[in-house]
Amino acid sequence: MQKIMRIARLALLLMFAAAAAAQETPDWTSPFPPFKIIGNIYYVGSQGLASYLLVTPQGLILINSNLEKSVPMIRESVEKLGFHFKDIKILLISHAHWDHCAGSAAIKELTGAKYMVMDEDVPEIEAGGKGNFQYGDVLTSRYQPVKVDRVLHDGDTVRLGDTVLTAHLTPGHTKGTTTWTTVAKKDGKSYNVVIVGSPNVNAGYKLVNNELYPQIAYDYERMFQVLKSLPCDVFLGAHGNYYGMEAKYARMKEGGANPFIDPGGYKSYVAEREQAFRAELAKQIQEHESEMRKP
Ligand SMILES: [Zn+2]
Repeated sequence: MQKIMRIARLALLLMFAAAAAAQETPDWTSPFPPFKIIGNIYYVGSQGLASYLLVTPQGLILINSNLEKSVPMIRESVEKLGFHFKDIKILLISHAHWDHCAGSAAIKELTGAKYMVMDEDVPEIEAGGKGNFQYGDVLTSRYQPVKVDRVLHDGDTVRLGDTVLTAHLTPGHTKGTTTWTTVAKKDGKSYNVVIVGSPNVNAGYKLVNNELYPQIAYDYERMFQVLKSLPCDVFLGAHGNYYGMEAKYARMKEGGANPFIDPGGYKSYVAEREQAFRAELAKQIQEHESEMRKP
């Protein structure tokens, strides 16, 4: 009886954790001034949700459509920079969570952009978030299902004009979380750009005995190996807080060296996130073992 109570309590707790993590925070919908990061890469997201615009002579690439209600804000940011929203030819995402992809249906409809998504995230995108191992049953995490135009695989490249992006499968946070890399040119120099998909273990994520995602811990390990192997000069990510976007933006306005060129910041971020993952994994293994020992 006690065990049943314990399981019921745990289930309730997990439900609340999932619901809490599925809630948006005010910074997600707070506008942020669009700006040039480096070369042909621009920031067109909100304060809390990053979107990137890559400008080529053959049209625009947008990374992350964010929330459904973010779309007018992204559009305004693109136009403020002097580009045409309708010139978006390719739409990419960091991963299949609503805060990075719920706006995709509207953007596809408004621009006719080709939607390209990593293999392992495609079933969720085409089912509007249904089937996600953590949030599949959380209604506020669902979004409009969208047909994917091109299924990407690890190492695939996306080309438009003179711009080449490489899709790196960095799973764990979702099964198809994608880290994008490209090369930005400035004053005759080339810079390796990394847009981190997400290294985070969300509240309520089960790293041990996860029936819906048995290889989750292995995938996180693999993801950290990939992130550590990528050469990085310009450090970006799916949320501005991964790389201190606001502070760097403020520093950039003061002039001087481009603060987004931050190879040291990238290395310490990845190391810190790996430590956080390892601590959480150790904690969950310990909890699992003591649970198993109970009568
Ligand atoms: Zn996410």
